[in-house]
Amino acid sequence: MPVVSTKPVYSGKAKDLFETDDPSVMRAYFRDSATAFNAQKKGEIHDKGKVNATISAYLFELCEKSGIKTHFIKQISENELLIKKVKIIPLEVIVRNITAGSLCKRLGIKEGKILKNPIVEFSYKDDALGDPLLTRAYIKDALEVADDKILDEITSLALKANEIFKEFFIGVGIKVVDFKLEFGTDKNGELLLADELSPDNFRFWDAKTNEKLDKDRFRQDLGNVEGAYQEMLKRVKEGSKSLIASPSVRNNKSTKYSVKVQVLPKKDILDPQGQAVEKALSSLGYKDISELRIGKEVVFKIDADSPAEVKKIVNEMCERLLANPVIEDFSIEIK
Ligand code: 5GP
Repeated sequence: MPVVSTKPVYSGKAKDLFETDDPSVMRAYFRDSATAFNAQKKGEIHDKGKVNATISAYLFELCEKSGIKTHFIKQISENELLIKKVKIIPLEVIVRNITAGSLCKRLGIKEGKILKNPIVEFSYKDDALGDPLLTRAYIKDALEVADDKILDEITSLALKANEIFKEFFIGVGIKVVDFKLEFGTDKNGELLLADELSPDNFRFWDAKTNEKLDKDRFRQDLGNVEGAYQEMLKRVKEGSKSLIASPSVRNNKSTKYSVKVQVLPKKDILDPQGQAVEKALSSLGYKDISELRIGKEVVFKIDADSPAEVKKIVNEMCERLLANPVIEDFSIEIK
């Protein structure tokens, strides 16, 4: 595993980035430090680093599964992710579903209004300038950090990510109000979703109570900041139970496996269809047959990292859908 502990090559407001012995791989260490209002407000949130690293791992994995390429490789400790080295495009890509934060301030409108359509906006990632809002022309013709093609691609990925996040979080009783994404390009020039995906860069509200469960608790001194982060970790884990494999398992080098699942009624369970066929065979002269059972065979192909992972996933599929464990046995053949 490519891990080398040295001095960080980059130290951000909440993360340190370290080189590894693979020049294309970095190690991101998530700290507990918290800043707001362009680092004018500073503090610590107990265990924030662990929570943000873990939530990020789950959400990057969710994106990957839905076809959005990211810089995430794997979570290697509670606070650390291995990530692909990327050249960050200096844009903050903000997606909004509900009015909040700087949008309300800028336009003088109330917090909490559902926007007619999700909004994607770009800010310049520059602390000294206070991350100013940009127009396309500023990006293309003044800063020259992205062209129309890249901006269209980023916009479409941001909107796709928004749909994925909204669907995932509403399943665990959370509204995705808004969030900030960053993108970068890897050594092959491929565009990847980067940075982190956590309550530091998302606004999350409880769907029933509208309670804020994100960094606004720190920004606005609402109290119970740590509790809100822990609650979000709990909800993300709850939502991820239904995802097929855990983030730490996958390594992006998946293989296609052929799977055959055989489902049969248990021996001591009444199988009227089996009995009828056994009887019919007997009347045709096949008298030596006994314990005939009729079941089903399910065949499919699956992408996974190893036969062990396939076994784990297919076992779960059998227990949840393909077989009824109370009355049926199943066996799995993997090629
Ligand atoms: P707003 O523009 O309303 O302040 O922020 C919109 C969304 O983007 C919020 O979810 C906020 O957390 C996130 N966001 C905006 N700027 C930054 C930033 O500089 N750092 C982080 N971590 N998140 C940001």
